[in-house]
Amino acid sequence: MKRWQKLLLVLLAVLICSQIPFAYRRYRLGRLSDAILQINSQRQPRPDEKFVEYKGVVHVHSFLGGHSTGTFEAIIAAAKQNQLDFVVMTEHTSANFNTAAMTLKDVHSGVLFINGNEVSAPTNERLLIFPGDESAITAEGSSVADVIARSKARSALALVAYPEEFKSWSAAGYDGVEVYNVYTNARQINPLVMLFDGLWSYRSYPDLLFATFYARPANGLRLWDDAIRLTGKRLVATAGNDAHANVGLSLNDASGKTWVGFKADPYERSFHLVRMHLLLSTGEVLNSSSLVRAFSAGHCFIGFDLFGDTSGFRFTATNGSDQKIQGDEIAAGSGVTLSVQAPVSARVVLLKDGQTFNEATGIMEKQYAVSEKGSYRVEVYLPQLPGPVSEQPWIISNPIYVK
Ligand SMILES: [Zn+2]
Repeated sequence: MKRWQKLLLVLLAVLICSQIPFAYRRYRLGRLSDAILQINSQRQPRPDEKFVEYKGVVHVHSFLGGHSTGTFEAIIAAAKQNQLDFVVMTEHTSANFNTAAMTLKDVHSGVLFINGNEVSAPTNERLLIFPGDESAITAEGSSVADVIARSKARSALALVAYPEEFKSWSAAGYDGVEVYNVYTNARQINPLVMLFDGLWSYRSYPDLLFATFYARPANGLRLWDDAIRLTGKRLVATAGNDAHANVGLSLNDASGKTWVGFKADPYERSFHLVRMHLLLSTGEVLNSSSLVRAFSAGHCFIGFDLFGDTSGFRFTATNGSDQKIQGDEIAAGSGVTLSVQAPVSARVVLLKDGQTFNEATGIMEKQYAVSEKGSYRVEVYLPQLPGPVSEQPWIISNPIYVK
């Protein structure tokens, strides 16, 4: 055998060996796909007479903000396809026009749209404000405290976005923290690994590629837990899809028609990964003001619905005289019973002030007697899922504040 032939053989062997992990990862995504089907077929959510659950997404951009080419039609179609009840638009601001006035609002194809903004202060600290208004035009020159004060004055919601970059934690009046953001998480991706994962798995499991990089937002959760302690206030946690539909490759002609290409983050996929589940009292109508009120009360939870429909999760409390749900305060009195209901058998972790307080596996329902004051919240995991995703939260609740 000639020298170049030997070299070629060695190169071929290296190439084949380098692909073994990706072939295995593709096989594991196949098992994950089966496990998800099984979870969705095993769901046994308990009926709830007091609350109606609405699911939707928060933190969505269209072509208006400049970073995206996404059209309103694509966003509405994706929301419908995902059977969402609401979509919170958070358009980047413009110095020249009011993007909140121009984006989707009201009901389209049965989906409620809220016209919000993602506002960036000169310090690079960012807030999600919804609904938005014309004051966002001047927000780029305002302090974080001013942006919050202006949104509070008109009963809009102000959420800290990108908490790792936020500094004004002691500013008064913000309502919550976006503890998880798909885009922030995706920045951890190793592009070479994603390229080969994509080549092996994109055609069969385009949505499940998310499972190859999804990780518990440890920093976001810690900053949120700390902010609750620091401010002594109730702060809602949300997850942001940060959907732009702008990641991908395509060749277009002059009219914009795509010849060849794929998008890694089309809206219909992004809206499937993670959703906010909102609880309204039975009989209450879902509209802009009831949605803002429920978010501000923390009557919601984060569900990574890609891994199984999280609808039906409940976290409640009673002290004998009062019945409360996640987001609420309850008097410690002579002891509080916290209750968790998961729609399928799961590992449930109860945290008190950000620290693990109780952990149990294989349960759908559990009660905890607590006497100490603190903020109690729940993370639910699915150990029955194959691969590293079994170690990442499926549901992140909002806290019940025992005072
Ligand atoms: Zn954004």
